[in-house]
Amino acid sequence: MDNKWQENCILCPVECGANRLNGVGACGVKGLRIAKYYLHPFEEPCISFEKGSGTIFFCGCNLRCAYCQNYEVSRAMRGKEVSPKELADIFRELEDMGADNISLVTPSHVVPLIVQALKLYKPKIPLVYNSGGYEKVETLRLIDKYVDIYLPDVKFYSPALSKRYLGKEDYFEVASKAVAFMAQKPLSMTKEGKMLSGCIVRHLVMPLCTADCKRILKWFSEELPKDTYLSVMSQYTPFGKIDGFDELSRKITAREYDAAVETAFALGIPNLFIQERTSAKTEYIPSWDF
Ligand code: SF4
Repeated sequence: MDNKWQENCILCPVECGANRLNGVGACGVKGLRIAKYYLHPFEEPCISFEKGSGTIFFCGCNLRCAYCQNYEVSRAMRGKEVSPKELADIFRELEDMGADNISLVTPSHVVPLIVQALKLYKPKIPLVYNSGGYEKVETLRLIDKYVDIYLPDVKFYSPALSKRYLGKEDYFEVASKAVAFMAQKPLSMTKEGKMLSGCIVRHLVMPLCTADCKRILKWFSEELPKDTYLSVMSQYTPFGKIDGFDELSRKITAREYDAAVETAFALGIPNLFIQERTSAKTEYIPSWDF
């Protein structure tokens, strides 16, 4: 892909058509901008594994989550510009630090630039594509041959909840197609339990959303390959009061999380990660470097 896409960007489902040579689109970034890279110890065990996931946080985002856990990066754009060559050097550096994989966090709005970096240096360890799920399949196809593991969220099923919390009424319609594409990645694990290839779908359980959560889990069990992993996450962490969203000012209850886990068991989902509710702490939210 040449750099023409930057003149009229339609990389993601927002299709805002921004000229990213001169300015930013709805995702908030022009080029590659990163907030932090380090060995992340708190992902699913098959991803963090022994030394940690070599995680790179990209600034900007095409969603507008009212409860964003990474606001400084997704919207305040705290970070620094890097070139594809510098990103390739970061891949090498993380590999030299002993990372079990390289994880690209929120990469969808900079995919062609990441591909340029991957052409300069393809890590020898698995490459993880970690996203909010709001993706175009055409854009995923640009990077798919480099990706070993997909780690997408599926956040909400209902258009009304998606509109309220993400600012995207069509979230599930778009994300379900993108995740169905991602879930075709064949599963491969070492005998020690490290993932080499595959797909883990994450669902963050939210306050007052039990019915919606059950619909997502039902869709997951009916539509995705049987060996796809599901990670039911309990770590929703409120950062005080959000104007107009009083219901988001508390953590989830044991009852809400148990309902999600019991639904996953009842549906017979075989590859399942669950968490302690004590995971809902701000210490699991990274502090930003740049
Ligand atoms: S990636 Fe950014 S600039 Fe491109 S269409 Fe999406 S929001 Fe707009």
